[in-house]
Amino acid sequence: MKNKIWIITFSVWMLSLIALADKSQKFELTKEWEQTIQKLAPANPTVKPLKKHKILVFSLATGYKHWVIPHTSAMLKILGEKSGAFDVVVTTNIMMFKADALKEFDAIVLNNTCPKSPRRNIFLDVLGDGAENEKIAKTLEENILNFVKEGRGLIVLHGGITMQNNSPEFSKMVGGSFDFHPSLQKVTLTLTDPNHPLLKAFKGKPFIHSDEPYMFKNAYADKNFHPLLILNTDILKYGKNKKQQEKIQSDIRYVAWIKKYGKGRVFFSSPSHEGHSFEQPELLQFFLDGIQYALGDLTCDDSPLKKEK
Ligand SMILES: [Zn+2]
Repeated sequence: MKNKIWIITFSVWMLSLIALADKSQKFELTKEWEQTIQKLAPANPTVKPLKKHKILVFSLATGYKHWVIPHTSAMLKILGEKSGAFDVVVTTNIMMFKADALKEFDAIVLNNTCPKSPRRNIFLDVLGDGAENEKIAKTLEENILNFVKEGRGLIVLHGGITMQNNSPEFSKMVGGSFDFHPSLQKVTLTLTDPNHPLLKAFKGKPFIHSDEPYMFKNAYADKNFHPLLILNTDILKYGKNKKQQEKIQSDIRYVAWIKKYGKGRVFFSSPSHEGHSFEQPELLQFFLDGIQYALGDLTCDDSPLKKEK
């Protein structure tokens, strides 16, 4: 009898371990998975689109390659097609950031566009060194800044924030730069204001999923954005990394926000590192709403925490 109980307990424990491990396991993008996301995605746009928009999804990574990149591109296509709010063009070509090529787009998505560290400049990674290439890289970055300044949208997803991580102006536009992250773990994100139009997706409840808890630097210190999702760092697990723990201390950190940049709008979401997160319909709704904000369809309070000096 005792043996039997022990075997049952052991089996349950093993099964729960397997279930936990599954949650952070890479899976290939399949038609079946796309069908699942198709079913879970919102059927209608939250607000009527001003027009049928066109979004450029930049999905190149020259540094760390997130396995979720193809899933994110597929998810964005599904969000656009099912809601009818926008068409998506996916590219890995940096020359799509030439001013002429950008003309046909209403928003840009940076889909986990991680460059090589420590330089963290995706354009130079592709172009190579040299004064001429540095000039081209600078122009391509300026084209993105101008694209937003002039009134269009920018959506930055997870690792996308690292793309031009050492550029102060890029940091200012996005609202921060990547600093570091404790390892992948289950995180509970709370809402700054459950009644904010961009947070209605979560129905007043916290959002729980497995993610890399991103920490930010540079322009983040100015808090020149309207925060949406909060990460409570008190409950983070650091493992043996005492240095990280000391650096973070007890504090709340914002991991998703919206902001103005010139006449344009920026939506940043640190979630998500994992494809599994998209299987939660709240996140799909949140992304659709954030994209509609960036496109100018959805107007809401985007006043910054701290005013620009
Ligand atoms: Zn990641």
